[in-house]
Amino acid sequence: MKKSLKERLAILSDAAKYDASCASSGTTKRDSSASGGLGSTEGSGICHAYAPDGRCISLLKILLTNFCIYDCAYCINRSSSNVERARFTPEEVIWLTLEFYRRNYIEGLFLSSGIIRSSDHTMEEMVRIARELRTIHNFRGYIHLKSIPEASGRLIEEAGLYADRLSINIELPTDAGIGRFAPEKQPDNIRRSMGNLRLKIEEMAEPTLQTKRRRKFAPAGQSTQMIVGADGADDATILGTSARLYGSYGLKRVYYSAFSPIPDSSKTLPLIKPPLMREHRLYQADWLYRFYGFDIGEITSGQSDGMLDLDLDPKLAWALGHRDRFPVDINRAEKETLLRVPGFGTKTVKGILSSRRFRRLRLDDLKRLGVSLRKVQPFVVCEGWTPHRLVDRSDLRAMFQPKPEQLSLL
Ligand code: SF4
Repeated sequence: MKKSLKERLAILSDAAKYDASCASSGTTKRDSSASGGLGSTEGSGICHAYAPDGRCISLLKILLTNFCIYDCAYCINRSSSNVERARFTPEEVIWLTLEFYRRNYIEGLFLSSGIIRSSDHTMEEMVRIARELRTIHNFRGYIHLKSIPEASGRLIEEAGLYADRLSINIELPTDAGIGRFAPEKQPDNIRRSMGNLRLKIEEMAEPTLQTKRRRKFAPAGQSTQMIVGADGADDATILGTSARLYGSYGLKRVYYSAFSPIPDSSKTLPLIKPPLMREHRLYQADWLYRFYGFDIGEITSGQSDGMLDLDLDPKLAWALGHRDRFPVDINRAEKETLLRVPGFGTKTVKGILSSRRFRRLRLDDLKRLGVSLRKVQPFVVCEGWTPHRLVDRSDLRAMFQPKPEQLSLL
């Protein structure tokens, strides 16, 4: 019997939650349904993303279908998996998007898909959805399309005319991992598609000679997703791959998706470390690389096994390994040095630089800027405060380490 639209929506929004390319996917799991509170981060169907102007927006996050002719070992939707399958028609996706938008549930659409019939056929259907939303229904909301790298360049280019953001999954951190767990995918094709997309985004961003205007093409840029923990690559390898992707393809974002073993699977892959904390630390390290002036080598050299410290955030772990660089005088230090102080974000540093033009700053000023004094005190000098030898204490690491918790037996 054919499944109803509602049943298919339940299946295809649930299947899409494994896609990490939205802001809420990287957060911790919370669900209030048992406690009687409000809200949950575990539900599927609606996710959040940041629009080019920095606003956080809600998106209908679904797959066009979870049927797939490929058999990537890490994917719940692979052809050999026994999950319940469903498929929308393009008209149904268009109708759902418009109805949800009119009811103010969403401000846009995040659309991904398993591969049906062929890469081009699937991509054609996805492009058609975006095209008809824009040209027939005059839909002005945000659209993020997950592109299929093996699809023809013509289709990916057309997608950029209608989508705000395009993403092409790099899948795994190494070519060897892709060869082993997703043998139908070619790393060279993935990189070629990313490179072509970058060229097109840059070309269209140039003002034309006739109109002097920039043409609209994927204005929110391109992003990618990497599965973490499926292939044994260490954090140094993962972050090194991300750095190359940022540099070579102008990506706006690399999303890290912790691999979870798939139940009832003959191909279950080994889990390397507690996956969600690892995913969280990778996002923090990625942030240090992009916005705080750290090299990947500096972030990952603290441990001999190439992994990030799961107990401490990567900046704090780096500071504890480089105590000779502290304490930092917040009234004199350069911006680059302030950015390396644990507990200082980019906004804090901006606030320090502008406030100290008028007076010498004290710990109270840091508190007003939202800084956790417990975290920064060993690392800074300011008016009325010096940590003396606090930064050299042998038990400093223990002071920051999370308290051991009794694990649940259930
Ligand atoms: S092609 Fe995509 S949907 Fe299909 S099995 Fe691979 S990762 Fe999953």
